[in-house]
Formats: sequence, C-alpha cells, structure tokens
Amino acid sequence: MRTPIIAGNWKMYKTVHEAIAFTKEFRQLVKDVHGVEVVVAPPFTALHAVVEAARSSPVAVAGQNLHWERDGAFTGEVSAAMLHEAGAEYVIIGHSERRRLFGETDGNVNRKVVAALAGELTPIVCIGETLEERESSRTLDVLDRQIKEGLDGLSASQVAGLVIAYEPVWAIGTGRNATPQQAQEAHAHIRGRVRQWFGAEAADKCRILYGGSVKPDNIRDLRAQPDVDGALVGGASLDPKGFSAIVRDGSRR
Ligand code: PEP
Repeated sequence: MRTPIIAGNWKMYKTVHEAIAFTKEFRQLVKDVHGVEVVVAPPFTALHAVVEAARSSPVAVAGQNLHWERDGAFTGEVSAAMLHEAGAEYVIIGHSERRRLFGETDGNVNRKVVAALAGELTPIVCIGETLEERESSRTLDVLDRQIKEGLDGLSASQVAGLVIAYEPVWAIGTGRNATPQQAQEAHAHIRGRVRQWFGAEAADKCRILYGGSVKPDNIRDLRAQPDVDGALVGGASLDPKGFSAIVRDGSRR
C-alpha cells in the first residue's frame, strides 16, 4: 500500500506574513486527516517560517528547487543542506516552469535528484509532455527520456523512495486538466518503465502524483485511478479551505 501525497506548489506566491497566516488556518483544517502525506512548497523566503508554523501538525514542507552543489559561488541558489537545515523534507525538481523558463535540462534534474537524496530530502521529480508533443504522439517517448535521464544512476532502493509527478505541461495553470483516463494511462506507463529499469519493488513503492489544474471537484476522479497516488497542486493550493478539501478527498480512493 502506497501512502498518498497531496503537495501544494505555491510558486512565487505568498510573503512570509501570508504564508504564516495560511499555515495557521490550514493546519487546523487538516488536523484530523489521516493516511496521507500533506506537503506545501513555499518560496524560499517563507520556508522556515512555514516549518515553524506547521510544527506538530501533519503538514510537511518542500523546497521548490535546489542546486546540486553543497555550497559555493552560485548566486541566487540554495543547496539540499540549506533546505534540510531550514526544515524541508521534500524538494520539487524539474518543474516544467523551471525547464521552460530557466532552461533546466534532464541532466540538471539528474544532478539535483542525486543531491537531494544525499541531503536527506525526498525528491518530487516532475515530468510531462507539452501540447505539441502530445499532439504529435510523442508523449510516451518524452516521458521515457525524462525518466531515463532524470533518474540515471539511481539504485532501486533510491527510486523506491522517490516521488514522481506527472504534469502534462498543457494542463498546468490552464484550467484544462487531463482526464482521469489520460492520467492513468501516463501513470501506468511511468510505473511500467520504473519496473523495467529499476525492478518490481521500486515500481510498487514509488509514488506517482498527477499535477495540472487539480481542484476540489476533480481530485476524486483522479484518485480513483489505480496508479494515481496523489496530486501536485499549484493554483488551488493557495487557498487553505480549497486545498484542505483536496487533501481530504485525495487521502482516499
Ligand atoms: C503546478 O504548478 O505544479 C501545477 C500543477 O499547477 P496548477 O495546479 O495551477 O495547474
């Protein structure tokens, strides 16, 4: 049995003050929810404040990105060690906005995954095709490349502990989500490749989240799919009530 995860990616939203207010309200709303890992990914500036505000609650914290070096002359970057010390337990890697807007490659994703694991963070590795790739029937090839290169060199036990987020780029922030069937098809393919390349145990244990316009009214149908182990939520994770409804419905099939 895989424990589901509902993770909120706040992107570049919320000041420290706003992040603390969210966390105080949200932790109350999810305090009696069981059987699900609940994660929020604030901007770096608010990360430690959210860790403090979420202390002794079911809410864990993720970074939205990291650099693969431990420290050094890398202006604007933060390392796994820094995130870990600030109280993060997870880190989002390879989000499509980082790939598209900041030139992140599968090779960079791989270095970051290795650094996150070495720094005791659980990577949430984002993969997914663009609209053009889907319309030219290249979805599965793109997923294969992103998995193969992004997870290159990892051991089976490392992959077993990973979280993969399938986020079709055309569904992110567009209000146009994949149908539950489209999500299941992609998730089953991803799990099949993990099985083929890293073995049955890795495939059975690794959590695969769906991301792309998840809302309180579509999480149930998505979670009903056997290979959808939860969700990575952008816009709808900014409101404590709406996000807690997603957590509640996402905690069960
Ligand atoms: C995301 O940013 O990972 C995401 C899925 O965004 P949204 O839910 O807003 O589509």
